[in-house]
Amino acid sequence: MRARVGDMWHSRDGKLTQLLERAPGGFGLGQVPRQRVPDSTTTLVCGFCSTGCGLTAHLRGGSAVNLTPAVDYSVNRGMACPKGWEALTPLSAPDRALMPLLRNASGELEEVRWPTALDRFVRRFQAIQKEHGPQAVAFLGTGQLPIEELAFLGTLAKFGMGMQHGDANTRQCMATAVVAYKETFGFDAPPYTYADLEESDLLVFVGSNPCIAHPILWERVVRNQRKPEVVVIDPRRTETAQAATRHLALRPQTDLELLYAVAHVLVREGWIDHAFIGAHTTGYDGFAAHVAGFAPTTVADRCGVAVEDIENLARLIHTRRRVSFWWTMGVNQSHQGVRTAQALIALALMTGNIGKPGTGANSITGQCNAMGSRLFSNTTSLIGGHAFDDQAARAKVSRVLGVEDGRIQQRPGLAYDQIFEAVARGEVRGLWIVGTNPAHSWINQRDARELLARLDFLVVQDMYTTTETARLAHLVLPAAGWGEKDGVFINSERRLGLIKQVRRAPGQALSDFRIFQLLADAWGCGDLFARWRSPEVVFGLLKELSRGQPCDITGVGGYKELDDHGGVQWPVRVGEVVEQGAERRLFADGRFFTPDGRARFVYETPRPPAETVRTPYPFALLTGRGSASQWHTETRTGKSEVLRRLAPAVEHVEIHPDDAALYGIAPTDWVRMSSRRGSVELRAFLTRGVPRGSVFAAMHSVQTNVLTFASFDPYSRQPAYKHCAVAIERIDGPSR
Ligand code: SF4
Repeated sequence: MRARVGDMWHSRDGKLTQLLERAPGGFGLGQVPRQRVPDSTTTLVCGFCSTGCGLTAHLRGGSAVNLTPAVDYSVNRGMACPKGWEALTPLSAPDRALMPLLRNASGELEEVRWPTALDRFVRRFQAIQKEHGPQAVAFLGTGQLPIEELAFLGTLAKFGMGMQHGDANTRQCMATAVVAYKETFGFDAPPYTYADLEESDLLVFVGSNPCIAHPILWERVVRNQRKPEVVVIDPRRTETAQAATRHLALRPQTDLELLYAVAHVLVREGWIDHAFIGAHTTGYDGFAAHVAGFAPTTVADRCGVAVEDIENLARLIHTRRRVSFWWTMGVNQSHQGVRTAQALIALALMTGNIGKPGTGANSITGQCNAMGSRLFSNTTSLIGGHAFDDQAARAKVSRVLGVEDGRIQQRPGLAYDQIFEAVARGEVRGLWIVGTNPAHSWINQRDARELLARLDFLVVQDMYTTTETARLAHLVLPAAGWGEKDGVFINSERRLGLIKQVRRAPGQALSDFRIFQLLADAWGCGDLFARWRSPEVVFGLLKELSRGQPCDITGVGGYKELDDHGGVQWPVRVGEVVEQGAERRLFADGRFFTPDGRARFVYETPRPPAETVRTPYPFALLTGRGSASQWHTETRTGKSEVLRRLAPAVEHVEIHPDDAALYGIAPTDWVRMSSRRGSVELRAFLTRGVPRGSVFAAMHSVQTNVLTFASFDPYSRQPAYKHCAVAIERIDGPSR
């Protein structure tokens, strides 16, 4: 059952709409590759991680047949990790969603035409809202969409459809960094540029394994000609720790105390930048008094790190001219991630290591457009990086987007975990999930699946029909993926880069942008989006929304300028000229985005993790990226034979050999790993890379979040994936 160009259907207002010819480009607006010179090349940004590498697509007849790393793109300079090389393969997977799917009376998902799907979306969600209130339908988005689509989703759902609650999977990876930066710098503003990796004399990586998670950034470290010290602070002897000059293998979840101890030594020895602190910060005296209680001799045993190692790290920070601090999920996915990130920011501030080459307190983001989601998804921030409770900001958004002020909420709405709690209470009864897979990735997987199954109506908009979440849906909307549509991503160093349509989406899959257009019309709020004709037009609106903000991009120009320039880092204010290939960092003038222009020291007494590791669950389960060739829930990378071969062939748990011996576990034995939430069965991989008393499992495994414990940083509400209590036992073989 395929819709044909010229098919007709009735929209909600009774007006006959010639759906398939409504917009330029017809049914597949954004679907048919633009005319390109046959057998040519074009550069687009990779669609996996936040590094934002440039990839050169080799086109035949306007369609990509191959990808190679872009040689002249400033981010990666001719390099790509395996995922980038293989990025086209998942587009041809056999489980692509080709038609909308609707669950029938027998409980089966069956193909329907787009008009039926749109009609059902509107009728079911509007019925829920009519009976239970507008807050009874919510949405969950993703950091995988370009900013134009993120803005469309957040604006349509909140201002068009009246939803009050929406969040994105960026809550799972970046919320901590957002809050840490906002509270200290006055805006969510990672200050660095990738050149800092090459210009630092000392790089301190905390809870970060770039060799695996961000391989091209590690390549930038390898290019550093300054003979840098590289210090890794991580419980595991990760690939990065093995390549580093020093490794502080601290006990899990003690990083905040360790960082306070380093600060203690810096204060005690007077190894601080008084001039910078006095001119550009507030709260230093309170911070110094706070860390007085964290002498290395006091915390060393708790952290499992020698006193000398703490003293030596402080001395290194003092003696090296350019010092940079880098963190990733080991910090963000912690029960006290915000304060830990702020301790790293404090170390940079107190030593004046900010705003200069080779310095900074630098969060490396996860998803390809997590940074874009932070600014433009209209979830945690009012679109454009504004505050919902700022009346002037609401007036600006109202003016730029033509939305009545009264439609703009004064609060951001519920966070991801709170939306699930609202489902449990029966307050959210309809959910629209776009491009994410919480039935695999949510920290409390069993609860997540149970709650998703409880919904009156679950819509999943995705490239694939087989994700764990799509299988639970009442309605699946087939979406185009990366490489099949145009838009802008923002990478970890604030660089805006283009994604482009280099393939035609299969079947009747549509770009998310086009789906949002159709849903707006079907819902009856199409007038609000009459100007939203194409991603590039929306990019113009987003530029205007950014005007006057720290992330001001009014001077960027259009897609062509962005393309010609090879990407550009925000801010670019109107009239500002940025040289091609320029590497730009923030705060060179010592002025921050707080009202008084000063950065703040923020600190707090450390707390223990929510779940204690003790008998009968005597091991701490650490989770993380298990392979450079796999991505999140493997919905795309799992489709590539090449990437599967590059990753471990079997799901396994890493165990220290001495712990394994105590439990009679030999290499490759089957092991049952249990927590209070459930149990899974994995192969044993014995390695001294994990500390005694801890085990490690990859986040990509669908089994891992059967075990994890749902606790959250109280300020960012980011899940604490990195720590829970488990038991292990040898078993003869899998029970299934
Ligand atoms: S490092 Fe990230 S952006 Fe670069 S090719 Fe790999 S997945 Fe893509």
